[in-house]
Amino acid sequence: MQLNPQIESVEKHLIFSCPHCQSVFVTENQCESCGYQFKVDRLGEPYGNRSFFNMFSYQADPYYWLSPGRKSKDKAARSHYLRQLFFRLSKIFDYLFGEIEADLIKRKHFLFEAKEIINEFTIQGGDSQKILGLIKDQPAHGTYQAICGFVSNAGRQRPTQYSIFKKIWSWQALDVPWIRIFTKTLFVYVPVIISSVLLFNYLIVSH
Ligand SMILES: [Zn+2]
Repeated sequence: MQLNPQIESVEKHLIFSCPHCQSVFVTENQCESCGYQFKVDRLGEPYGNRSFFNMFSYQADPYYWLSPGRKSKDKAARSHYLRQLFFRLSKIFDYLFGEIEADLIKRKHFLFEAKEIINEFTIQGGDSQKILGLIKDQPAHGTYQAICGFVSNAGRQRPTQYSIFKKIWSWQALDVPWIRIFTKTLFVYVPVIISSVLLFNYLIVSH
C-alpha cells in the first residue's frame, strides 16, 4: 500500500490517513474506505461549496465537509473538526503560496478565508504553531507576514457578548415576545399616546 505523497507533504506531522474519514487504507489517488479523491482541485471558488463559510450550510459539499462536529462535546468529533479546518487551510495555503495568481481579488478572498479559519481553529483549541509549520519554509513569501499576523491575532475577536440581551429581547412565551412588547409599549407607544393627548389638549381644549 502506498501512502499518499500529497497528504504526506501537507500534513507532515499528522498521521498519514484520509483527511476525510481518517482511514489509513489509502492509495495514491483515493481513499479506499470512503472513495475520497486526492488528486482533484480541492480549493473550489471563493465562498463556494468548499469554503469554510459554507461548511455548515446546505450548500456545503458533502464529500468535502463530512459531518463537522463543532458543537459536539465528543472529543473525537471535535478533533475531526479541527483536522478538517486544518486541511482546508492547507489547501488555501497551497494556493496562496504555490500558485502565481494574477487575479488579486480572488487572492484577497482566499486570504480572508484563511484569516477566518485561523481564528476559528485557535478559538476551538487548535495549536497555531501547526499553522505556522505549514509555511515555515516560505518566510520570504509576500503572504507570510500576513499569515503570521492572523495567527498572532487569532482568538482575540471573541464572539460579542450581546447574546444574553438578544435572548431576553426575543424571549417568548405562548409565541408572544412579551419583553419586546412591554419595552416598546413603555418607551414608544405610551409616550406617543401621552404626547398626542397633550397636543390635543393644547390645540383643542385650551382654546
Ligand atoms: Zn476516506
